[in-house]
Amino acid sequence: MAEIVIKDLRKEFGDFTAVKGSSFTIADGEFFMLLGPSGCGKTTTLRMIAGLELPTSGEIWIDGEEVSKKPASQRDIAFVFQMFALYPHMNVRRNIAYPLVSQGLPRAKVNEKIAEVARILGIEDILDNPVSGLSGGDRQRVALGRAIVRSPKAFMMDEPLGALDAEFRERMAEELRALHDRMGATTVYVTHDQLEAMQMGDKIVVMNHGVVEQFGTPQEIYDHPATMFVADFIGSPPMNFIPFEGSVSPGAASVRVAGTQIALPALREEAHARRMVLGVRPEHVRFTDEGAYRGRIEAVEYLGTTQIVTLDAPNGTLRARLPSSDVVRTGEVVGLDFVASTLSLFDEASGRALR
Ligand code: ATP
Repeated sequence: MAEIVIKDLRKEFGDFTAVKGSSFTIADGEFFMLLGPSGCGKTTTLRMIAGLELPTSGEIWIDGEEVSKKPASQRDIAFVFQMFALYPHMNVRRNIAYPLVSQGLPRAKVNEKIAEVARILGIEDILDNPVSGLSGGDRQRVALGRAIVRSPKAFMMDEPLGALDAEFRERMAEELRALHDRMGATTVYVTHDQLEAMQMGDKIVVMNHGVVEQFGTPQEIYDHPATMFVADFIGSPPMNFIPFEGSVSPGAASVRVAGTQIALPALREEAHARRMVLGVRPEHVRFTDEGAYRGRIEAVEYLGTTQIVTLDAPNGTLRARLPSSDVVRTGEVVGLDFVASTLSLFDEASGRALR
């Protein structure tokens, strides 16, 4: 069990800076996601927390103790690189026992711990099987067993499901989350998959080019993206961006976009005489008969319960998610309306949210 506090963490490799001053707190027992595109610095951050990489500057605190310069062996953290990495010449029991045996734990204690872990993972029946004949799911469970058997303070996982096909991946993601909920150990999990992060995480840090773009719950990040990068990275299809030039005063009820007033919720700060961008999630676009902001339906993609409609609108391409039961026809011109309370507004130059 451990709270992990990261303060202004920085990592330079020669003259390249991989992590540019990150700060965030991981609460005790949290399932915490480090999310971002390839090369954004997530793995480097994870390795610094685990002690596999030393920071150039900044602090890492685990359980109230500063560990920034301590070696990995003194941090009591289990690092799950890739779940399939088992010792092929050992059976399941010996694979799981390995970390305890190498610590010199007495045999009776080892057996007790193995029984407990096997029960948690539901693998009591296969303890004496060779790992070579195991199914993919059981191999994952055994590898997890080896990570959890010594009850570390926290788990670090680097894309543990990355190599799996979609269906199996989803099932293991659910199992992993359920296992975490039973054990309650702080877990830091690296992924580039926004859906995985949204589904599994209690909290998410979104990184880009070594910078923390946003830190919050999945819902905070989805509903109130702090930057255009986050708005675009989270959600599929991503948030629509409608650029416009104009002036919006605090408390203003609407903005004028392409000759049409679009209703807005209250702003945090005054925004005027600069290029701004309205952000609209596809599920918040409505079709109306009378709307003056109009678009032509270019394509319709059927997705089962919903359909994604691509429109040619005055400010560019726009995507709407509608129930599949709505009748839409390619070529038709429709009025567009947005749910005011859900809109985002960004400063185009900085990419930062204005509300
Ligand atoms: P990925 O998912 O592709 O691994 P990531 O977000 O985990 O991406 P990191 O592995 O943290 O990214 O790498 C961040 C940047 O730092 C990359 O540009 C990478 O090339 C660079 N980098 C990482 N380790 C080293 C190293 N030991 N020496 C030099 N550059 C490094």
